Amino acid sequence: MLIKKRDLTGSRFGKLVVLNAVSEVKEGYGASVWRCRCDCGKEVNVMYFGLVSGNNKSCGCLKEESQKNLLERMELVDGTCVEWLKDRKIRTDNKSGCKGVYKRKSGKYTVSIGFKKKIIYLGTYESRDEAIEARKKAEELVYDSFLEGYSIWKKRAEQDPEWAKGHPFQFDVEKKGGRLVVHNPMVQLAE
Ligand SMILES: [Zn+2]
Repeated sequence: MLIKKRDLTGSRFGKLVVLNAVSEVKEGYGASVWRCRCDCGKEVNVMYFGLVSGNNKSCGCLKEESQKNLLERMELVDGTCVEWLKDRKIRTDNKSGCKGVYKRKSGKYTVSIGFKKKIIYLGTYESRDEAIEARKKAEELVYDSFLEGYSIWKKRAEQDPEWAKGHPFQFDVEKKGGRLVVHNPMVQLAE
């Protein structure tokens, strides 16, 4: 069955403005292909139903744009700046002391780690060396597995933005039975 198509000349669909009809399937039923000019300046031929359904809203440059925006948003995942985490390697390599290790009045050392705006206490240690060791182990576990999971997720999100919309990046850390436990679904998927 042939559906009669409207004259789209001059209409706007997203970034596309219709210039003229290119072809007609059958005389009198309206054109199925239309010449359009995108706001970016490029001209393209677009199918009638692609335009009226809202599937085609640009020459293709819009898809690239929304993908770029998506990736920019991702740099800040739930209060955790991924770029900051990447910088961490440089910071912890300088020997100006250890973050998250505090000496108490009792002479013992309390160790904590911050993640996603929350502070997780790792325990209290007799010596400073033990405390630093505990903090470093926790750092490796939390930050390294976060970055590992995030890079797996990001790679897939770049290939498949639709999948990414339905599967936001997930990662969390909690203390369970005195131990630090990492919830990292992306790494589990990849294994
Ligand atoms: Zn364009």
